[in-house]
Amino acid sequence: MIEVFQAGHALAAEAARYTAMGWMRGTSGNLSVTLDHDPLRLVVTASGLDKGELSAADVVVVDAAGEALPDQLQRPSAEAGLHARIAAVAGAGAVVHLHMLAPVIAAERWPGGIELRDLEMLKGFGRAAHDDLVTIPVIPNSQDMRVLGDAFEAGFDPATPALVVARHGVYVWGEDLMAARHRAECLEWLLRFKTETE
Ligand SMILES: [Zn+2]
Repeated sequence: MIEVFQAGHALAAEAARYTAMGWMRGTSGNLSVTLDHDPLRLVVTASGLDKGELSAADVVVVDAAGEALPDQLQRPSAEAGLHARIAAVAGAGAVVHLHMLAPVIAAERWPGGIELRDLEMLKGFGRAAHDDLVTIPVIPNSQDMRVLGDAFEAGFDPATPALVVARHGVYVWGEDLMAARHRAECLEWLLRFKTETE
């Protein structure tokens, strides 16, 4: 399917960029784009591959549970289940899951949620630079995507397109891969600033 190939091409390019940033080390992390909202279909990067060396074919089409459709050749990550949940709840067009260090350090210090305010870079995250308290939700890590999905949904705020999984990494989303990337880049700056100044 041409749409899947185009999505695979875009996902491989994004994954190479994030790998160069050090945010997809050791095959970690995964990226997705939403093909259809009803029924929900996502194109997700395949499991177990070096994210700096993906080709357009290294993707899997999954359903709302994060399970591969029957005709798929590659295996999705278990984390595809949380991508699908975020796409369903937030209506996201793209979700990026990155093993960035700054969000994990911040979650260690503020496990109840990471508060940000009065920083210019919040504009790149889709919020106001002044007088807008932004709380990035933190949930405990789990290997069960339903547990993670329920915790995400319980704390979901449509104005805050990010979720930190403690001792693990971050999920950031947007209407497309570029929007998700710009938010992820700004969030990394914001959380690095926070952990280094407070
Ligand atoms: Zn992960």
